Amino acid sequence: MRATQVFIDLTALRHNLACARAAAPASCILAAIKANAYGHGMLRVAQALSEADAFGVASLAEALQLREAGISQPVVLLEGFFAAAELPVIAQYAFIPAIHDHSQIEQLEQCVLPAPVDVWLKLDSGMHRLGFPLVEAKEVWQRLNACRNVRRVLGCMTHLANADNLNDDFTARQLADFAHLTEGLSGGRSIANSAGLLGWPCSHAEWVRPGLMLYGVSPLLGGRAEQHGLKPVMTLRSALIAVKHLKQGDAIGYGGVFVCPQDMPVGVVAAGYGDGYPRHARNGVPVLLNNRRCR
Ligand SMILES: *Cc1c(COP(=O)(O)O)cnc(C)c1O
Repeated sequence: MRATQVFIDLTALRHNLACARAAAPASCILAAIKANAYGHGMLRVAQALSEADAFGVASLAEALQLREAGISQPVVLLEGFFAAAELPVIAQYAFIPAIHDHSQIEQLEQCVLPAPVDVWLKLDSGMHRLGFPLVEAKEVWQRLNACRNVRRVLGCMTHLANADNLNDDFTARQLADFAHLTEGLSGGRSIANSAGLLGWPCSHAEWVRPGLMLYGVSPLLGGRAEQHGLKPVMTLRSALIAVKHLKQGDAIGYGGVFVCPQDMPVGVVAAGYGDGYPRHARNGVPVLLNNRRCR
């Protein structure tokens, strides 16, 4: 057995979902489990989060894995689809693509599907990554509603750029612009990621989309998980496979980056590339050694 192991605490995961629920009691929760649930194992996480109202993934492959594992909640493709060939599969499994670009609308209009699909309309309120400019909201919404391959436009979605900083008034501007330019469009609204959920109650709307906080990490600048009641889901554990007694001035490892400030014992942990431990992790990254924090 390898000394280095990852432990996933599914009870903590469920607890963190309950924290999200408590912080946004009037909203439905779309749990972001893309990217293999931020490295925690997507299927295991989806099964544990049975109380989530929907799941958000980045690709059709992830969505299919969820269905094949018997997960029955609605699955939203947060970036929509990447090629028209994905659309018949999306329709067959009733996945819900977020539509963020004109090319996607054209493909929706031109394809032949076994059944029409539900979609979210993704709008850009200032992040300037994915989404139609807010000023096009009404026009795009109408065009989607007129498309025979669209069953329902479930609502309008946007993403906050700076919600992690509670002192940055850009978030308030995004919220105001989004509210103003989507006024009167039917369906729900979805704005908040974890930082919006915990830091900006006025961003909650009908659907919140927490990711990071579910895994037990504070999404706020300078924030700590405990202050939100969040529990860490992942623990990385290993063992010392050698303890050396080095002298003041001895340099350790490639490039000799760490130089012993005094005579000292130095433990060698059995963790490296093969375990996913990044080389760019800085010198001094803390570890708990028999529950004592050391560098
Ligand atoms: C990943 C993702 C989220 C979750 O964001 P966190 O900051 O991890 O809470 C929310 N919305 C969209 C569109 C995402 O892609």
